[in-house]
Amino acid sequence: MAKVVILSGAGISAESGISTFRDSGGLWDQYDVSVICNHDSLEKNEALTIEFYDKRRSDIEDKKPNQAHKTIAKLKKKFKNEIAVLTQNVDDLFEKAGLEKGELVHLHGYLPELRCRDNSCDSTYEIGYDAQKSFHDGKCPKCGEKLRPNIVFFGEMAPEYERFNYEIENCEMLVVIGTSGNVIGVNSLAAFVEHSILNNLEPSEAIEESLFSKVIYDKASKAIEEIEQEIEQFLA
Ligand code: NAD
Ligand code: ZN
Repeated sequence: MAKVVILSGAGISAESGISTFRDSGGLWDQYDVSVICNHDSLEKNEALTIEFYDKRRSDIEDKKPNQAHKTIAKLKKKFKNEIAVLTQNVDDLFEKAGLEKGELVHLHGYLPELRCRDNSCDSTYEIGYDAQKSFHDGKCPKCGEKLRPNIVFFGEMAPEYERFNYEIENCEMLVVIGTSGNVIGVNSLAAFVEHSILNNLEPSEAIEESLFSKVIYDKASKAIEEIEQEIEQFLA
């Protein structure tokens, strides 16, 4: 159980060139999210859904971590047990910044992975940036069932939320970076933690900023300097 919980969202990867939900002109604009990210998308729109995630997977190949990912990775290495890093992001920028499996939690899944659609098999496979079909023709090498992106779609269970709740219940400091609070509500979390920091570019109608002890509206790559100091001081 960690003293400091760092929760990030799409905004932390924006400066690395991965578009957030709201950015216009990004990948998300070309697709109807309710069609390709929903719990029934694989049944109703299989080809389009797989194509969308293939594109997103290949899109992250050349993306590089920014100062915010790097500083968080450095802090996690320094304070292994005192800091928990949880992200809503499905990109691999924390991994590229040096975090290993077990050092961060992907609450909504991980793009470089596929998962067997048969829940009783439940195997996962790391495929890097390739298209789903190029890996064993998109079928599970173990049981032959079709594979799917290892992503949590809207309306699906998010198994890692259990871990998240545990960490939140037991933490003393909460740091929220780059999330609008629409998918995971952060107000109730901040209300229960004595020290809390919020960093976004601008206010979000889903976030009550008075619940946070510190609010920084700035780019994450810049705000991270102040956040690092706060965490260092808190854990000193
Ligand atoms: P969101 O798009 O709803 O909100 C992004 C937030 O980041 C906004 O509050 C904005 O002010 C802030 N922001 C934008 N640029 C920033 C910057 N440079 N520095 C600091 N803050 C910045 O994102 P969300 O709340 O994470 O919800 C989106 C959902 O979509 C999540 O579930 C996530 O899994 C998924 N998603 C993931 C990625 C990714 O993996 N990189 C990208 C898009 C969406
Ligand atoms: Zn299988």
